Amino acid sequence: MIGSTQAVVTGVAGFIGSHLAESLLGRGVRVIGVDRRPVSRDPVAARNVAPLTGHPEFRLVEADLADLDLAPHLADTSVVYHLAGIPGVRSSWGDAFADYLTCNVLVTQRLLDACAAARVPRMVLASSSSVYGGTAGRPSRETDLPSPLSPYGVTKLAAERLALAHARRVDTATSVVALRYFTVYGPRQRPDMAIGRVLRAALTGRPLHLYGDGLQRRDFTYVGDVVAATLAAATAPARDEVVNVGGGSDVSMLDVLDCAAGIAGREVPVRREGRQPGDVESTLADLTKARDLLGYQPVISLADGMRLQWKWLLSEDGDEHAGATAG
Ligand code: NAD
Repeated sequence: MIGSTQAVVTGVAGFIGSHLAESLLGRGVRVIGVDRRPVSRDPVAARNVAPLTGHPEFRLVEADLADLDLAPHLADTSVVYHLAGIPGVRSSWGDAFADYLTCNVLVTQRLLDACAAARVPRMVLASSSSVYGGTAGRPSRETDLPSPLSPYGVTKLAAERLALAHARRVDTATSVVALRYFTVYGPRQRPDMAIGRVLRAALTGRPLHLYGDGLQRRDFTYVGDVVAATLAAATAPARDEVVNVGGGSDVSMLDVLDCAAGIAGREVPVRREGRQPGDVESTLADLTKARDLLGYQPVISLADGMRLQWKWLLSEDGDEHAGATAG
């Protein structure tokens, strides 16, 4: 039964995984959270899991999914939320690719095998808008031909396709919903991501490295909306589906700078840099399928979401601000 009370969340010490686990615990679901980041030595991981630790229904498994014995953790689990992975477009070029391949592709294959063996009813997989490689002059639909423009996007597409291939096996009990998240933001956002960097630059006065002309457009999605869609994907009637999860915003980086200036009450200092390889011109989700299959509708506007992230940033301690880079 998909709706039962134990879930595994991979990538639980990450930005989205930690929010998802918090929400599951709030709904009375027992959560086994897996992450390879050592909470005792990694301050970002420690901060992310802080709201979870101590909860009687939460167990943290600090391990690498590339070699963890998964079976004991999957028994009695009704949903695996597979969010672990190496994110980020720019750093996927070059030497880091081996880690992308291992963590995004090989680990997913391993987990899919383990879910099938344990007869886990549902896997919800974090895929990415990066698989599209940009819009075709209209919002991207799940039926569009994927054409990723970065090694990262290629690994996310491979993971998604692997998951669908597993779900289509005649002998499997594990169904799959792969969610194509569109640029997620909110409290605890990864420090390398745009909105966090913009707000930090507004806060510290240290220049934001703005890549390209600032006219790139993004469909930014608030993390609370992403969590709502991810929870809905656990119980949606599905065998092997791919679904967009966007925020309904279609804004440029210059719009984001304006919004940040309004929130902070000061201009955001900017240092212009060249366009980065792999950065797409625009992303925009067609949310028809998300609405029909998941009952999903984003509810947080970009301005409200940025205000929530700003508030969170202000509540962070001064040391973290001092160490943050806007690059
Ligand atoms: P994050 O880096 O904050 O979290 C990912 C977590 O996965 C990290 O804590 C990391 O330690 C863990 N992890 C990676 N490899 C692992 C392994 N081999 N074993 C155990 N743990 C491992 O990233 P995030 O922004 O929270 O993204 C979560 C997922 O959503 C990723 O799969 C990412 O590709 C996807 N996604 C994110 C966005 C976004 O805008 N943040 C957009 C599209 C897709």
